[in-house]
Amino acid sequence: MDRIAELKATVKGKLLEGEPMSEHTSYGIGGPAWAYITPKDKHDLGNILRFATEWDIQVYFVGSGSNLLVADKGFNGIVITLGKSFTRLEIYQNHVHAETGVMLGRMVKECINRNLSGLESMIGVPGTLGGALIMNAGAYGGEISNCLQKVEVMTPSGELKEYATSEIDFSYRHSTFKEDEIIISADFEMQEATSEVIQEKRSLASQGRKDNQPLRFRSAGSVFKNPKPDLAAGYLIDQAGLKGTRRGDAEISVKHANFFINHGSAKASDIAKLIRIARKEVKEKFDILLELEIKTLGFEKDVFTP
Ligand SMILES: Cc1cc2nc3c(=O)[nH]c(=O)nc-3n(C[C@H](O)[C@H](O)[C@H](O)COP(=O)(O)OP(=O)(O)OC[C@H]3O[C@@H](n4cnc5c(N)ncnc54)[C@H](O)[C@@H]3O)c2cc1C
Repeated sequence: MDRIAELKATVKGKLLEGEPMSEHTSYGIGGPAWAYITPKDKHDLGNILRFATEWDIQVYFVGSGSNLLVADKGFNGIVITLGKSFTRLEIYQNHVHAETGVMLGRMVKECINRNLSGLESMIGVPGTLGGALIMNAGAYGGEISNCLQKVEVMTPSGELKEYATSEIDFSYRHSTFKEDEIIISADFEMQEATSEVIQEKRSLASQGRKDNQPLRFRSAGSVFKNPKPDLAAGYLIDQAGLKGTRRGDAEISVKHANFFINHGSAKASDIAKLIRIARKEVKEKFDILLELEIKTLGFEKDVFTP
């Protein structure tokens, strides 16, 4: 039996062979994954991880791909997503337990409906809970780690482990979770608050997003991290005169210079060119080397070096 046939015999959930990653990223960009798998449950996930470890096959975890640029040649390994199967969400009083395939927006809305505060400023942040934890996603003053208590992960050998929030370092769009461990679920302790307070924060965030972001186009949100809290990457790219710069069907948004958009048939190589241009121009003009916020998969080393 060849390797993919063996893998198919192992997986109880859904396996797509040679699946284009453009179907699973908000950019709508990315070549094929050797195997794209939605595990059925924890047991299935454990078997898949052990299979990959045993045969030394590369594994990458994906939520909804809203912060991800995948290379045009794709990824010669297993992509695992919990997005369709690990979707349990339980709320008891001010305690939230959620599996990481839950969409963040669903969790935020359920909390708002119960007057539970902590995540309302993240309304409109796309993606799953898993992606949000890895990225320490945040918006308008709130970050996912603020009300986090603990997470459950699975190791490459299929072992379950728990981490308390204090065991993970969280900072701006960064966490220190181990790359080879998949986060399965998380527990949160929310604050009770009045509906007025929550709705005000929610409205502020929603309006800010509509006013400032090119939401009609495909993107992965901010491409670069802000170099300092009071110095936005978008401002620097704008000041370097790069708004509207286009390569192929990819463009540095005129509305928000840190959003690079796909007009329809952009390639990963087009986005990569815009990344190099922005880094080079900002470095030359301000002596600041912008650091990527988006995650990348399947690229050669140095592709993003100006
Ligand atoms: C229009 C738009 C607006 C956005 N606005 C914001 C914003 O205001 N604030 C913000 O922070 N972000 C924003 N983003 C970026 C993005 O939505 C967030 O980073 C989001 O949290 C990513 O979630 P995801 O499920 O799509 O993760 P993915 O893009 O699929 O993955 C992100 C990272 O998480 C890892 N990962 C995903 N799931 C797991 C798991 N279960 N276990 C282990 N690793 C995992 C992946 O390997 C990858 O490294 C925006 C994006 C768009 C398109």
